[in-house]
Amino acid sequence: MPIFDAHIHFSHDAAALLAAGEAAAILVKAGLKRALVSSSGDAGTRALYAAAPDLVLPSLRPYRRRGETGSWVDDPSVIDFLEDRVRRFRWVAVGEFHLFASQTGKAVPRRMVDLARQHNLLLHAHSDAGAVDAIFAQWPEARVLWAHAGFVGPDIVGPMLAKHANLWTDLAFRNEHAYRGRVDDDWRSLFTAFPDRVMVGTDTFTPERWYHVVEHADWTRQWLADLPPGLAERIAWRNGEAMIRPHLANLGK
Ligand SMILES: [Zn+2]
Repeated sequence: MPIFDAHIHFSHDAAALLAAGEAAAILVKAGLKRALVSSSGDAGTRALYAAAPDLVLPSLRPYRRRGETGSWVDDPSVIDFLEDRVRRFRWVAVGEFHLFASQTGKAVPRRMVDLARQHNLLLHAHSDAGAVDAIFAQWPEARVLWAHAGFVGPDIVGPMLAKHANLWTDLAFRNEHAYRGRVDDDWRSLFTAFPDRVMVGTDTFTPERWYHVVEHADWTRQWLADLPPGLAERIAWRNGEAMIRPHLANLGK
């Protein structure tokens, strides 16, 4: 089964370990149909996109190097960086960024959301539910991919998906929903209630995680086999494809 992996990073330290061509070969070996890729320092994403333009969906992260996940919201130079990169290169999304409810009134994240609006970018948010609500309050037509299903349970994810029609979620680092390859009942209910809104992701947040991309794809296929085939296919790749389609024009596709 092909997989749309919604959560791949190829940051500067991973790019120092693996050439872009080698990283692209790993994505192909894992059987990925597409990968939403971002990196701390955008060079990694651009190199991987150049190496595999039909597979990689480039996303612009507001980080220039590791360690900016907490400081970026107070750093106006992040906006200069984002404005420069959206002017010079093609992107389908902005993120993955870390943004929490208490930070959403700050000028830098608000300006980032404005930039996403101006450039038709999906927002890949590592956020709590309050920050997701605040993004939609600022821009009601936003399209948001909620990373890691917010690290909360179906009791919170379900109502959020019901409230926001343009909210999708990735299951990166949420494999506990399918311990031993069997999908828990509460997650199964969520997938059944929102069959179009959930997708999978590996999250190569450290360079070493690149050695697990193939294994993660295999594990994903194992637990997806515990779902009805049509639903499994949607979560594996169809939902990601549908989510990203309105942004592909940004790439000239
Ligand atoms: Zn991530």
